[in-house]
Amino acid sequence: MLKIPEYLKDLEPYKPGKPIEELERELGIKNIIKLASNENPYGCSLFVKKAIEREAVNLNRYPDGGAYYLRQELSNFLETDPEQIIFGNGSNEIIDLITRVFLSENDEALAFQGSFVVYKLVSKAVGATFREVPIEQDFSRDLNKLLDKITEKTKVIFIDNPCNPTGVANLKEEMNQFIQNVPDDVLVVLDEAYFEYAKEHGVPNGLHYVDIINPKIPEKNVIVLRTFSKAYGLAGIRLGYGIAKKEIISVLEKVRQPFNVNYLAQVAGVEALRDQKFVNFSVEQNEKGKAQLYEGFEKRGIHFIPTYGNFIMFKTNDAQMLYKNLLLKGVIVRPAFGFNNYLRVSIGTEEENKIFLEALDGLI
Ligand SMILES: *Cc1c(COP(=O)(O)O)cnc(C)c1O
Repeated sequence: MLKIPEYLKDLEPYKPGKPIEELERELGIKNIIKLASNENPYGCSLFVKKAIEREAVNLNRYPDGGAYYLRQELSNFLETDPEQIIFGNGSNEIIDLITRVFLSENDEALAFQGSFVVYKLVSKAVGATFREVPIEQDFSRDLNKLLDKITEKTKVIFIDNPCNPTGVANLKEEMNQFIQNVPDDVLVVLDEAYFEYAKEHGVPNGLHYVDIINPKIPEKNVIVLRTFSKAYGLAGIRLGYGIAKKEIISVLEKVRQPFNVNYLAQVAGVEALRDQKFVNFSVEQNEKGKAQLYEGFEKRGIHFIPTYGNFIMFKTNDAQMLYKNLLLKGVIVRPAFGFNNYLRVSIGTEEENKIFLEALDGLI
């Protein structure tokens, strides 16, 4: 008889947003819109598409395990040392690597209640204790409460800034203070998956907490996570990265699979970074879509949480029912994990947002 570790027994697998093809099969309908996984509704850079076509002839070869060109491109872009970067098969892989390196059965990870569900999954997968710090009535997050919960067992703190699914964020001043006060033997994981959307709105740039940029806090241990899945529009290619001091990166590198970032992802990453016009366009469009959805919610008397990301959490009387009824109309949104009466909708194109809002009519 195979023995399953006790700590895995009540662990639920991650439930991703429903794929369009799956709903097509189930309902036999076309013209489905998916606003469920915070993907970029404008696709990706044209230069990425062209480069992938061009490079398809090289797929018989293993990729460069060190991702040399991508590393050069990114370190120039971020003005960091190339050795301060680790790439992952999505930033999710780096979250996983972090737990494998820094957490084991007697350790504890901390995060705010309702933050990105992957933190809990990966922490529990290595047998660590995962503790959630309550958030406020209005979904805001008090970083002092996080500090208060730190114990000798706390090894890792996960902060998604902005938070998925609520869309709230902690701003510069409070984060500066938090980082100054966090103990030196705790690793802070600042997950900035939505940084490009949030950076003009007072959200800190986590790179300021990584030693080379800010030599005043060399003793603090922060790893910043970013991804190509959101503003860069490359969720399908699986590419993310972490930036931290070299000591942290070099130990993560020890447990990384040698070819974790595939050849096309490396090619795509280089081209995507060079096309900041596409990113800026995506962010501008997101602002417009945000305003459109806010107005649509207000008109319908629907309570929503103002967002720093490319998604909005909104309240309903019966989230499960509304979710299912929207599916029947060909609109895929997402239950907001941890918040029973709430759904999360990704900000789409003007047309998609309109279809979503009109689908709400008659259902609420
Ligand atoms: C979408 C998202 C990610 C990105 O994950 P990838 O593996 O890079 O696709 C990471 N963290 C949060 C909070 C997210 O919402």
